[in-house]
Amino acid sequence: HAKQEKLSGIEVFDPELDKKLLENIQMEKKISSGIKNNEFFLLYQPKIDASTEQPVGCEALVRWQTPQGSIFPDQFIPIAEESKQIIPLGTKIMHLAGEQIAKWREQHFTPGHVAINVSAVQLLHGDVYGDYQDVVERYNLSPGEIQIEITESTTLQQLELITPMLTQLRDAGATIAIDDFGTGYSSLSYLKELPVTHLKLDRSFVKDLPESDALAIAKAISGLGHALNLIIIAEGVETKEQASYLKSLGYDQFQGYLYAKPLQPEQYSDFLNRISQNDNQAITDTEQAV
Ligand code: C2E
Ligand code: MG
Ligand code: MG
Ligand code: MG
Repeated sequence: HAKQEKLSGIEVFDPELDKKLLENIQMEKKISSGIKNNEFFLLYQPKIDASTEQPVGCEALVRWQTPQGSIFPDQFIPIAEESKQIIPLGTKIMHLAGEQIAKWREQHFTPGHVAINVSAVQLLHGDVYGDYQDVVERYNLSPGEIQIEITESTTLQQLELITPMLTQLRDAGATIAIDDFGTGYSSLSYLKELPVTHLKLDRSFVKDLPESDALAIAKAISGLGHALNLIIIAEGVETKEQASYLKSLGYDQFQGYLYAKPLQPEQYSDFLNRISQNDNQAITDTEQAV
């Protein structure tokens, strides 16, 4: 009943229509106009190599500044997925990332890879591969500068359907990470068939370290990933203690507030410059000591 009214588009103010649905419809329209009005932008969170402690790249995280205030992804991504607005939004995000990489290049700044989050809805109903090719061509990127993060909360059946698309992206040179790993439905045997290069341990396990269950899961995922020759990254690393547990479990890369929160583009280049300067400083000090 409610759905029919939604489709008619007239009786939006019917009191029977539940509040949630009304909010979702309003949000859907807001997303659509937000894309046109350039209200979406990206922040970049560094990823750190566990052994060298040098940044290897970053994850692009979308932000939405509406005239009424900012809205976080957890509040609008699910609605964007449900309404399929994630498809034009995802295209926009891919272009924003490409444009930023090109700007950084003009400033002679090497950001490492930039990981872009992509929902199953985008892979199933949009043209992620086409968007990727457009962006690589338009901004003259090297193919490996873009990483695709696909969340594991995708059903096995969906995974089967999206595997050919992931394979196309992989063959074109993008790296592919399974995000929030450990929370979804990937069967171990299926993982072997997926053209992925990285596994990203979900924050919920990192948060509970060194509690024994979380430790066991973090360890199992590291073992599995390395057995399959994948790069293992942990998200949501907030403390030195968590980092040292993860390092001892063989994690290759870290991302989290311990190193940096999601940053504006200028802050990200400052962050990388500062780290490499500290590094030079350390080398100079050593030379002087010798
Ligand atoms: P995600 O891809 O797992 O992103 C990691 C989230 O953890 C981000 O939240 C990030 O800000 C947050 N985070 C990073 N380090 C820490 C930490 O040390 N501690 C804690 N407590 N949190 C940390 P954010 O930016 O709110 O994004 C939430 C989710 O929204 C993302 O989860 C992703 O699934 C989705 N998302 C974000 N940007 C995009 C996008 O451009 N496209 C799509 N399709 N989804 C996106
Ligand atoms: Mg992600
Ligand atoms: Mg994640
Ligand atoms: Mg997560």
